[in-house]
Amino acid sequence: MPLRTAAQYLESLRDDRLVYYRGERVADVTAHPELGKGARHCAIDYAIADDPRHRDLVRYTEEGRELNRFYKLPRTTEDLLRRREMIAETTRAGRALIVLIREIGSDFLAAGHIVTRAMQERLKAPYHDRLRAYHRYVAENDLAMGVAQTDVKGDRSRGPSEQEHPDYYVRVVDRQTDGIVVRGAKAHTTNAIFANELIVLPPRAMGEADREYALSFAVPVNARGLKFIASPFSGGGDSPIDHPVSSRHKVADTLTIFDDVFVPWDRVFLCGEASYAGAFALGFVEYHRFTAISYKLPLLDLMIGCALLAADANGIAGAGHVRDKLSRLIAYRETVRALTVAAAHECTLRAGLAVPSTTVTNIAKQYFAENYHAMVQKVQDIAGGLIVTGPSEEDLKNPETKAYVEHYLGGKAGFGSVNRLKLLNLIRDYFASSFGGYHELLAIHAEGSLEAQKITILRGFDTSDAVAFAAECAGVDLPPAR
Ligand SMILES: Cc1cc2nc3c(=O)[nH]c(=O)nc-3n(C[C@H](O)[C@H](O)[C@H](O)COP(=O)(O)OP(=O)(O)OC[C@H]3O[C@@H](n4cnc5c(N)ncnc54)[C@H](O)[C@@H]3O)c2cc1C
Repeated sequence: MPLRTAAQYLESLRDDRLVYYRGERVADVTAHPELGKGARHCAIDYAIADDPRHRDLVRYTEEGRELNRFYKLPRTTEDLLRRREMIAETTRAGRALIVLIREIGSDFLAAGHIVTRAMQERLKAPYHDRLRAYHRYVAENDLAMGVAQTDVKGDRSRGPSEQEHPDYYVRVVDRQTDGIVVRGAKAHTTNAIFANELIVLPPRAMGEADREYALSFAVPVNARGLKFIASPFSGGGDSPIDHPVSSRHKVADTLTIFDDVFVPWDRVFLCGEASYAGAFALGFVEYHRFTAISYKLPLLDLMIGCALLAADANGIAGAGHVRDKLSRLIAYRETVRALTVAAAHECTLRAGLAVPSTTVTNIAKQYFAENYHAMVQKVQDIAGGLIVTGPSEEDLKNPETKAYVEHYLGGKAGFGSVNRLKLLNLIRDYFASSFGGYHELLAIHAEGSLEAQKITILRGFDTSDAVAFAAECAGVDLPPAR
């Protein structure tokens, strides 16, 4: 089957999936005034594969078939670097907003490949065969995938089986000859309502008491019993002038409910083997955080570009404090970029796949997230207060006010008021609006919250050489390792 077009992809979303938005059932996500923006944003992923400028990057051939490169399992540093480039290009086409209908699913396919291979060898159960068949199915049919890992979780200090009620983590409630029945809910599931397939995996390591929660599987998005409540809080305004990006580009996150959903065995990749839940959870984030740091780059470029243009428009490009802020924005961007490249170069091989360096990836993600708000502050500072106090599109259209806006809101000579306002609108849209607030939250929590990265950094770095060196310098005799 040839790769799908954007139109074919959009058509495939009209399949009676059960989606609610602001209290109402949505009959067709592609036709909905708000969610339709998200569907069209996701269609970028298909349009870009048809674009002659990107075809070579986005397509590859395997066993005589042309496939989307997102389905290529990374086996070398070069594969990881091309994946990084493809993620950045797709995000750039989305005006710095991640598209995320293949990135996250392919993170799972790579991690699942490694974990299920070990499981199949050890348990003599056909988990790896199932995962490979599923991988072939989504690749050959060019399907879009969402991933639901994060459960609603209830009391964070307790594990799945210790909660006040049993449904704070997704669990199996019935095992049948032909499959399983699952119940529960996942939170924050990005773009699943614009996908064809939803992949589920555990969010954490689990003990034997949590067996019923140790689950990984995939279902079509229109599976019976699967329900989505879409959040309205990732959107922007409707005016393409006042909200140049968020009026056209959107992602949608859902509370994803599994109301006794049946999953046939050939789509089950983990069911009850609690000791493998951690391997799924951690293996997935090893790839997913590499995706995270790959898609940040267009946003960091946008920050630098906005700061430079605003400095120019305001006539302050040469000011010492502005140059200081610009140098920090550039250093921020370059640190994230260099760490991403380093993570690919320092990959390790597991089950024949290249896994980006866990420590370097997590340092990059942590560094990005920890500093994001401070960098937004620099752009806001250079741009000035007009980004939140300026007039609207309507004022530029009203003949009674238009002339005043044009006369008074120009900047440096040559930077007329209309251009200046367009630029300030972009800065507000991304860095001082509800869409901007969404990005701040995304920076901190998406792909795992700040502490998750710190824990991974601590766990991944071998401290023994550093300790031995310090002990040697101090002349301290270390006790024998226990
Ligand atoms: C925009 C966005 C998109 C996302 N997309 C997806 C997606 O597509 N699929 C998906 O599966 N997930 C997705 N996520 C979920 C994301 O991975 C989680 O938000 C993240 O893991 C944090 O979980 P949480 O939101 O439940 O917050 P919590 O885990 O509740 O964190 C809140 C605070 O509690 C702390 N905390 C949590 N547990 C403990 C503990 N045991 N002890 C001490 N402190 C603790 C945290 O460190 C943090 O400070 C997305 C999130 C966002 C914001």
